Amino acid sequence: METTRNTGLSVKGIDKSFGPVEALKEVSLDVHEGEFFTLLGPSGCGKTTLLRIIAGLELPDSGEVILGGQDITSLPATKRQVNTVFQSYALFPHLTIFENVAFGLRSRKFPKNEVKSRVSKRLEMLGLQDMADRHPHQLSGGQQQRVALARALVNEPKVLLLDEPMSALDAKLRAQVQVELRRLQRKLGQTFILVTHDQSEAMVVSDRIAVMNQGRIIQFGSPKDVYEQPKNRFVAEFLGAANLLQGRKKNGGLETDLGFFVLKRAPEWEEGTVAIRPERMRITESPATVNGTRAQIREAIYRGTDLDLWLDPGPLRVRTAAHRHYEVGDEVWLEFPPEALVILDE
Ligand code: ATP
Repeated sequence: METTRNTGLSVKGIDKSFGPVEALKEVSLDVHEGEFFTLLGPSGCGKTTLLRIIAGLELPDSGEVILGGQDITSLPATKRQVNTVFQSYALFPHLTIFENVAFGLRSRKFPKNEVKSRVSKRLEMLGLQDMADRHPHQLSGGQQQRVALARALVNEPKVLLLDEPMSALDAKLRAQVQVELRRLQRKLGQTFILVTHDQSEAMVVSDRIAVMNQGRIIQFGSPKDVYEQPKNRFVAEFLGAANLLQGRKKNGGLETDLGFFVLKRAPEWEEGTVAIRPERMRITESPATVNGTRAQIREAIYRGTDLDLWLDPGPLRVRTAAHRHYEVGDEVWLEFPPEALVILDE
């Protein structure tokens, strides 16, 4: 565990069950002040439950939530300096954009002038100043999402929680909003915690990611760490595509059905798995000096920027430049560079 220095929010030893379902098991994490932190995992892994516990919308069975050094585990949601942007945005349809954003300040009895200046500032920051008098149904999905953000940020929370806030947007807009959200967070320097099941979204926005599965955090790390150094098979496969080679340790390398592979270090297990990303595999003209194998192309999928090949024996997956030309049935040499082979935990 990291020390609590510069820690914005800590979760310690959280357990939560719903009847027989153990939604969270011994979950601990430290989110640094000013960090964009993402909880990433498949449906049902417990990420929304964890976010709701941080927000104060759910009580844990055991464990603590600490914000800025203070134990807030049993503090009601409205008393926490935490705001949430929900998947549905939950905008009030009968209120204007201005009034939607002003709502929290008005209910906390802020003076009129202060409400006006704070709301105007947020609307402007999010490029919504010309839409202040409209109603939510007169805005696009992306604009509504920005209103939901403005409404949460206007309260100046210590931590902003984002529960799949981009899932209602189409793919193109979503990609654009991800970049905007990242820029906004860097500009504000505020702590954001995002929940998503979308690995590419997590990669784009996050400083750090916690990969979750079945109620547990499996791995913490920067997007680069978790993608390039996955700890186990689950992380390797959940974050993009991976070729997995199973085998037995021999002379510090790996003996597999495809032959012997040199590794950058000896595995700690006797039998286990190594992973290699499709884009780290190489197609070579002649056999590589180490880690080469002969393969035949079974399927080629043109993707514009890349070419995805499926090869036998395997299926092995290779991603290469789109301008290269291969036909189904072609025989090629494949190379598995030792530095690209990641030794998994088991
Ligand atoms: P999704 O991406 O589908 O929202 P998630 O990772 O956010 O999934 P959670 O919503 O946290 O997962 O749910 C974790 C587990 O707890 C699931 O098995 C879910 O069915 C269960 N669960 C969550 N909330 C409740 C509840 N109020 N009552 C009963 N079971 C619940």
